[in-house]
Amino acid sequence: MSDTFKAILVSRDAEKKQSVEIVDLTEADLMEGDVTVAVEATTVNYKDGLAITGKAPVVRRWPLVPGIDFAGTVIESSHPDWRKGDKVILNGWGVGETHYGAFAARARVKGDWLVPLPDGMSPHDAMAVGTAGYTARLAVMALERHGIVPDRGPVVVTGAAGGVGSVAISILSTLGYHVIASTGRNAESPYLIDLGAAEVISRDELSQPAKPLAKERWAGGVDSVGTHTLANVLSMTSYGGAIAACGLAGGMDLPTSVAPFILRGVSLLGIDSVMAPKAVRLEAWRRIGADLDLNKLSTLSRSIGFDGIIGAARDIVDGKIRGRVVVDL
Ligand code: NDP
Repeated sequence: MSDTFKAILVSRDAEKKQSVEIVDLTEADLMEGDVTVAVEATTVNYKDGLAITGKAPVVRRWPLVPGIDFAGTVIESSHPDWRKGDKVILNGWGVGETHYGAFAARARVKGDWLVPLPDGMSPHDAMAVGTAGYTARLAVMALERHGIVPDRGPVVVTGAAGGVGSVAISILSTLGYHVIASTGRNAESPYLIDLGAAEVISRDELSQPAKPLAKERWAGGVDSVGTHTLANVLSMTSYGGAIAACGLAGGMDLPTSVAPFILRGVSLLGIDSVMAPKAVRLEAWRRIGADLDLNKLSTLSRSIGFDGIIGAARDIVDGKIRGRVVVDL
């Protein structure tokens, strides 16, 4: 019990100035929970970048170990579903926001928050997917439920070279969709085509204030940018189409009109990964295990060590990270 392990800790002083450091913790320092997990892999998501840099109020308990997702092995459990040795994944549920998170070699959480690692997937693979990829899968499931199948026409993915975008492209192309990738990094075109994009367009085409309606270009889409980009995406969605909104990398506002909804019957599908019910999570991870190409997963991810987390967190909020970053512990 007294063995120490490394953790990242974000703290705030009396003037609410935020700082981040690497500290040594023991299991006694962890928060309450009925399952203790040896974290084997984690990842740096956009939200982790916001938590570590303090650029948005993600952290709501001080001090806190950030990190919203991990994969690892149960080392202690009093929860009926989990036994020592089980391989598990955690995404969200306030972990890394209000509960000590993944940027530590040990995590203690509620067993109800965990899902099993899909067969054939390593902790590293699961974190190459991570919360960004699981969110991308939720977005694609929402499009499928809405009847946006490949025959309906092209689908657009914004923030294409980011984590959600890269996994969304990979999944959609594997499922047979014609994917239009929108990126601000034109140099990443070969990467996006490698992932399965059929066309790459410049983010500039979607970043100006949107007209109420514009030429119909796609039947569906996955948007992780928000603001004018999402407004333009909606204005260009064909009759009866649907767009899954999952992010705010460009901004939180949505300067649009009702025109796409009332004149073209377009739907805006909200995606939340943090509090998604367990059945939805199980289905998303089952589908990831079934139809995510592991070769593409290695194309879209790279590995760093624990000491690289803080630098990667800064880079992701600056839009400098391509695809996914896996932290192997
Ligand atoms: P990344 O930083 O990996 O990707 C975001 C991408 O958005 C960037 O790579 C860039 O793509 C694009 N982008 C960044 N800044 C801007 C800008 N100012 N204007 C237009 N495009 C921009 O983040 P993630 O993929 O991990 O997350 C994406 C978003 O999804 C975040 O807002 C995150 O908080 C949200 N999210 C939401 C979840 C949910 O439950 N709803 C779960 C997970 C993530 P490019 O260079 O190709 O243009």
